[in-house]
Amino acid sequence: MAIERTLSIVKPSAVKDNHIGGILAKLEAAGLRIIAAKMLRLTPTQAGNFYDVHRARPFFQELVDFMTSGPILVQALEGENAIAKNRDVMGATDPAKAAPGTIRAEFGNNISENAVHGSDAADTATAEIAFFFATSELCSR
Ligand code: ATP
Ligand code: MG
Repeated sequence: MAIERTLSIVKPSAVKDNHIGGILAKLEAAGLRIIAAKMLRLTPTQAGNFYDVHRARPFFQELVDFMTSGPILVQALEGENAIAKNRDVMGATDPAKAAPGTIRAEFGNNISENAVHGSDAADTATAEIAFFFATSELCSR
């Protein structure tokens, strides 16, 4: 297995509900290392560009409205098989269908307010990390 990097976002609902620590603890317990992190609030343009792949979907405006509703915590994660490992710890998109113990099962409210984002493939992970972080901000360890 290869050492990979992936992007994780603690979404506005989970920041608002004070679940940053609980979520990062689950990521670290799974062996993922946080190599960069910052809190910021997305503009509608930034949120739309980040979720550009979903622009034609019926939930796109709801997604942009939600992602801009408050601050988020973005992190770059590193570790063995990090992309799939993060998706496993996150759980299914709909918290009602997420396996017990996963982040979305524990901290998600519904399919929109589902606590976290995680990159879904190597190419999106690279692009999404570059969306938020300069290479010089990544502290590989
Ligand atoms: P993410 O990309 O945020 O990590 P995901 O990869 O599990 O989530 P996607 O299919 O990429 O799921 O959907 C992106 C986001 O759009 C979801 O996390 C969710 O917040 C929102 N979303 C997806 N499907 C719906 C839906 N049917 N109704 C409302 N929001 C949705
Ligand atoms: Mg996705």
